[in-house]
Amino acid sequence: MRELYKDLQPEILINREQLAARVAELGAQITKDYHGKELVLVGILKGAVIFLADLLREIDLPLTLDFVAISSYGSATKSSGVVRIMKDLDHDIVDKHVLVVEDIIDTGLTMSFLKNNLLSRGAASIRVCSLLDKPERRLVRLGSDYTGFTVPDAFVVGYGLDYGQRYRNLPEIGVLKSEIYAN
Ligand code: 5GP
Repeated sequence: MRELYKDLQPEILINREQLAARVAELGAQITKDYHGKELVLVGILKGAVIFLADLLREIDLPLTLDFVAISSYGSATKSSGVVRIMKDLDHDIVDKHVLVVEDIIDTGLTMSFLKNNLLSRGAASIRVCSLLDKPERRLVRLGSDYTGFTVPDAFVVGYGLDYGQRYRNLPEIGVLKSEIYAN
């Protein structure tokens, strides 16, 4: 990992222990809230996969799993809100309680699009669980029902989050040095 860490600011934003502890808390809360309901977890590829894999094992309920892949037009570090579904759900969600699992909500444009899209398919409920939230940059009114950590306005990578498809395998979350994306 030394190769990857040299591109990060030296202070780690969220370490492994903090991630594990918060994911366990979220799992316990979700377990309580969805007791007796048919839960479908929808992971957003690819950024949410590490979070989802850990979260899933902290939820003590029968549940099913599905994925969507979306691509957002814009630069590598800023989303435009114009979203395209690259891979759709495999199963229908009519009358199901859907919990969308996302890596980070930034402007909120991506999640706002996705939430409306899923709602139009007849789900009983749609909630959002986002590992990270950058509320300072929000452009639409959108909250996350479950949030892991609120982060400052900086470009973060690791624990599934990428820059140019790299850094997803970092086991913790750090801030990318600005010279990396300035080039
Ligand atoms: P939004 O539509 O809320 O602006 O953007 C959400 C998407 O932008 C996230 O799913 C993620 O892919 C990307 N994104 C926003 N901020 C960051 C960040 O700090 N780091 C990384 N790696 N991706 C980000």
